[in-house]
This record gives sequence, C-alpha cells and structure tokens, in this order.
Amino acid sequence: MRKIVSVLLTTALVMTALLGGVVACAASFTAGEYEAAAKGNNGDVNVKVVVSDTMIESIEILDHQETPGICDKALTDVPAAILETQGLGVDTVSGATNSSNAVISAVTLCLEQAGADVEALKAIGAKEVVRAEDQTIETEVLVIGAGGAGCAAGVQANQLGSNVIILEKQASIGGNTIMSGGAFNAVNDRSEQAIEYNDSVEWHFTQTMNGGDNKGDPLLVHTLVRNAYAGLEWLEEMGMEFYDEERGLFTVTGGLWPRAHKPVMPVGTGFFDTYQRYVDTHEGIEIMLNTKAESLITDETGKILGVKATGETGNTITFLASKGVVLASGGFGKNVELRMKYDSTWGVLDETILSTNSAGATGDGIYMATAVGADLVGMEYIQLLPLGDPQSGSLSGNIEFDVERRIFVNKNGERFVNEGGRRDEMTAALFAQPDSYMYIVMDSDCYPTGDELNNFNESVNQLIAEGRAFKGETIADLAAAIGVPADALEATIAEFNEHVATKETDEFGRTLYSTPIDNGPFYAAPRVPTVHHTMGGVKINAEAEVIDRSGNVIDGLYAAGEVTGGIHGTNRLGGNALADILVFGRIAGENVSAR
Ligand code: ADP
Repeated sequence: MRKIVSVLLTTALVMTALLGGVVACAASFTAGEYEAAAKGNNGDVNVKVVVSDTMIESIEILDHQETPGICDKALTDVPAAILETQGLGVDTVSGATNSSNAVISAVTLCLEQAGADVEALKAIGAKEVVRAEDQTIETEVLVIGAGGAGCAAGVQANQLGSNVIILEKQASIGGNTIMSGGAFNAVNDRSEQAIEYNDSVEWHFTQTMNGGDNKGDPLLVHTLVRNAYAGLEWLEEMGMEFYDEERGLFTVTGGLWPRAHKPVMPVGTGFFDTYQRYVDTHEGIEIMLNTKAESLITDETGKILGVKATGETGNTITFLASKGVVLASGGFGKNVELRMKYDSTWGVLDETILSTNSAGATGDGIYMATAVGADLVGMEYIQLLPLGDPQSGSLSGNIEFDVERRIFVNKNGERFVNEGGRRDEMTAALFAQPDSYMYIVMDSDCYPTGDELNNFNESVNQLIAEGRAFKGETIADLAAAIGVPADALEATIAEFNEHVATKETDEFGRTLYSTPIDNGPFYAAPRVPTVHHTMGGVKINAEAEVIDRSGNVIDGLYAAGEVTGGIHGTNRLGGNALADILVFGRIAGENVSAR
C-alpha cells in the first residue's frame, strides 16, 4: 500500500483558521523539515512535517502499512485537522483510532524536534460539537451495519426496488469484512476446478458440518454452500474482480480444501469498492456513517417498526422502516465482557488475548435483538486463529501464501500440529506451546524475490526491515535469526520434507502438501493466538428471519452475517465467512424487500 498521502496547508486555510479564531496562540518553532515514525496498527507510520517559525506548514505521510479502506480517513483527516487548528489535540477518526494516534504521535515527535511546546499544542484542536436537532427519517428498509452482510442486504434490497438506508456507527464502511484476508469459499459443481480438486457443493457441505462438529443447522449450511457461487457471480456482475479460477483456487488456513477464491484488490477492499460504487450510482440507497443504532422500535404486537439511533453529534434519530429492519452489526470479538460471559472453550478470553477484529465488533446486535425477544444460538463457540500479530493481534504481517507450503514451529524449533487442520485445533495446540508463540516458516518458493505482496500489501522484505519477519540463507541462519535451536529446526524441516516426498499423512494428521521447504533463503514470522470470529449469535431461519425464544418469527426483523448463530457450529471453516455474509445478506435483502 505504500501510498503517499500529502496534505498541504493552503494560504486560504491559514487565513480561515486564523480569522475563525481556531488558532489560540502563535506557536514557536525552529523552522525546517522534520521526520519521525510512530507505531500504527500494522507497523510504522512515517511522517514529514514542515514548520515555519510560527506555523505548521505541511504534513506528509511518507510511508505506512495501515489497512486500506479502514484507515484512509485517519491518514487524511487527522493531518488536515492538525493543520487547520494548528493543534495536536485533534479528534481521532472513529474505527481508525490506532492509525489516528500514530499520525498524532509521529507529528508530535516532529514538533518536539522543532522545539515546540507540545503540551501547549495538545490543548488545541478538539472539535467543538454542536448537537444537531433530533429527527425522524422514514425509509422502506433499514439496515444496521455497513459491513459485508449489511452492504449485501442493502444493495440486494435496492436492486429489487426498495428504498434503503444503511447505518454505520464507525467513520467508514467495511467492519471485519474489509479486514479479512478476502478468501471466499464457493464451489461451482460444473467447473473444471471442482473436478480437478475433487470438490463439490456436497463436499463443501460435509466439511462445513463436520468442521463445526455437526452443531450447525443443516438447512442453513445447505443454503450457504448452495448459493455461494451465485453470490460470487453477483459480485462479478457488479464489477468486482476475482483472480481467474484457472490460476488455481487456494486453501486458506482452516479452510480444509482448495476452494477459496481470491479477490484482486487487497484484503476485503474489493467488496466495498463494489458496494460503494453501487451506492454512488443508484437512487434510493444511502449509507449514514457515524450513526449508531441503539435499539429496535416495536409496536404492541412485537412487530419491528424501526430503529432509534444516535447521530454524529449525539442527537437522536428515529428511523421508521415500513418494510423492515436487517440486523447486520457483526460479531462480538471486541467485547471482552461478552467473550468472558459466553466462552466455554478457551477460558482465557480476557483483554490479554488480542483480536483481529474491527473496533465495531462489540456485539451491539446481540443486545438489541435479545431486547425484543430474539433467541441466541451457539454463543459459547468463539473462534481464535493461530495467526495474530504479536503486537496488534491483526492478521497483517502474515507471510503465508497457502496452507500447503508452510509449517508452524514453536520456540524450540519443533512442529506441534497439523497446519492444514481446523482453526480451533491449531489454536489449542498453540496455547500449549512455550509462551503460546510460534513462527510460520517457508522457503523461497513463496518468495522468489521477497517483494511479492501478501494479502495486506506487505512484502516480506518490508516486514524484515521492520523486524516483523526474518530471513536466513540457510535453515541454520534462520534459526539464529529467530532464536530457536538450529539442529532442531533443521531436523524438523528434514522430517517434514520426507512427508512432502511421500505425501503420507504425518504424526499430526497433516495431508495437505505441495513442495518441500528446501529452497533458500528461508523465511519466518512470529504469530500468537487471536480472537477472530464469534460463531454464535441471533437465531435465524433459512429466510434470514429472526426467531424469538418461543420459536416464532419476529415480524419485520431479519439478520445476516456474524451477528447470527447456528451456521458454523463449534468452528467455522476458513473462507466460509465471506460466503455466509454474502448469501444470507442477499436473502435478508430479498425477503425484506418483498414485504
Ligand atoms: P459482517 O461480516 O457480519 O458483515 P462486519 O463486522 O463486517 O460484519 O460488519 C458489521 C458492521 O456493523 C461494522 O462496520 C460495525 O461497525 C457496524 N455496527 C456494529 N454495531 C452497530 C450499531 N449499533 N450501529 C451501526 N453500525 C453498527
């Protein structure tokens, strides 16, 4: 992503700021150019600040690896606010707090170098919020949450003729979906790939059911796998690009089979590029950012009439939805209280366990739905991945390409699990290793030059320069770089390569192999357990209608995506979430629109 964001202060802006009285006092700097870096979500954010004797003249983001789509506004709006107010006390962008703080910290370091009184500057900049009037807005379909499920539902309902408003509490759309690796499981039974990989919709069904210990609802799982490929075609019709299937489908971690399609745009940005373009070019559909749904409005019979929400300025907005409401507010991976309350597997899901999730994944939909009588299902099943960045818990910094060509080793240089297995089993095994810490190890077959980009648009060379990945010309060199015993790592890899040669199931049950790890230089990157997905949630039927605690449909309430439960059972297959949110988002959109 290495894009350069540059914000230059124009004379007009200075004049406006000065005349408007925003600049409280003339600061004093040693004029010049200064550079500094501060940690963002995925590594350093580097900035260059130019100051005159009295003014911050310009702020340029030289370099960063923040997640596209989510953090863009932090990289533009925060520098703009600092320039406009000439202060460091500016607001962070909601949903991009870490990126915003990284920009503020790096600018602060630059201004310190310039001899500024940064404490005085921190008292300047906070936006004065004027509360807007309370209001009532009428629509036909109201969707809560502009993540993958909400956007699919909203777009589908609009395509079928409904007026739609999508509420998003954060400053940008995308939720967890935009931060995902982008792997999308879908099988086209008639394709050459299905034949080549010995795959079918039926096998996808069986693996999804088994992978969740048969706790998923078979009808929901059937609905998911049967409609996944049609969902992919629907996205393609709207202009979203996936890599050609002939290039090969891949096995995502915990996906168990090579059936994942890969979007051309990084992480989940391709989905939102597509949805935003649709919204921008069609009438009758609107996304309201910074607008948080608080509660569902019902009549005396329990029918859903709309939503009470809080607007950007803290005002109350009452939305009346004549056709109904779609709940698509995502999971609760970022809500430690709910994690601790429901988790029955891990027993340790307090704040020390990081999460891959977006700041919006706080389970709001669970509270709103249960308040109107919705039933919950599978809340105790919480998915962790063994793939978290040790500092942030994010999936960034992950150097793997596919399951087949990499192994996991612990701090003793030993393998400890089937790396092609289920996510819950891999993570449980990781918790049993020293410091719950491991390295993903692979060779140059994945990185012929080291400049190849991973899903997060990071190259391994970049990650090595930042100390987030390691390289060795030989296995012994790599062992020295990561601090594990060289003889142990050499023995581990030699033994693994024997299994690659025979393709025989190994002692951990691994069956997925490709090429041996024998082509130096060799690469490694550290990973820790991280909360990734909450399988449980609001109970729905195959029509995406919400079911109450007596087993009846709640009139006018639909739900889709991670806020729902009962599909993935105890453990979701990698690559099935994007299929789930798309399939059930579209079903919810179609059914609410038909009312
Ligand atoms: P899914 O994968 O199910 O679509 P995501 O995490 O991608 O879930 O998207 C859920 C979206 O809902 C996020 O963008 C999140 O910020 C948003 N959201 C969560 N709670 C609320 C709420 N109370 N009001 C409005 N938006 C919400």
